Amino acid sequence: MIRVSEVFYSIQGEGRNAGTPSVFVRLEGCNLDCPWCDTPIRKTGIGMDDLDLLQKVRSFCDVSRVTITGGEPCLQPEVFRLFQGAGYLVDVETNGVIFPEIDGWPAIFNGGSLGTITVSPKRGHAVEWRRWLAYGDHLSVKVVMDEPEWTSETIESSPGIVYVQPRWPYTSDELNQVLNMVKKHHKKAKLSMQLHKIIGIQ
Ligand code: SF4
Repeated sequence: MIRVSEVFYSIQGEGRNAGTPSVFVRLEGCNLDCPWCDTPIRKTGIGMDDLDLLQKVRSFCDVSRVTITGGEPCLQPEVFRLFQGAGYLVDVETNGVIFPEIDGWPAIFNGGSLGTITVSPKRGHAVEWRRWLAYGDHLSVKVVMDEPEWTSETIESSPGIVYVQPRWPYTSDELNQVLNMVKKHHKKAKLSMQLHKIIGIQ
């Protein structure tokens, strides 16, 4: 059984794919417990079998893109293969601490059915970039503004362009801090806002 917190059809609000329609499958549970986490729903969920989950996703018209999020989706990596096998373009959002050991990955995904693996490092929890780099151009990095020195170091030590966003909700001071961080790291960083929250959608 797959433990699922919620399934909904919306618009990706952040990172590389901001503005892209997708069905979101939020899986229950996380290996971390960040004090500022904005998804308390990760702590509750129901058990669904593969068919129930596929049917639920198919009920949102014929959208072909699924974003697996959490909580921490790498705790239940079999879900990635489920949607890959059903022909979906699959995006994954992870904190990057657990590397998903899945037969055929990343070679199969790099063959076409992977959208973006977005790794969002968290302070105090190392990410083994050496392994994630196997996803090539499918890998994207998002950093939620934290302690400035850590944020700065994380931007510089992460592969590729890093999308930097404020925590939600944010004050004008906190937003300015993010803007200054992005300007400081102008060769590596881009601003990412949680558009879905700003416009008030799920
Ligand atoms: S890793 Fe993400 S989902 Fe998990 S507790 Fe931290 S912010 Fe929440």
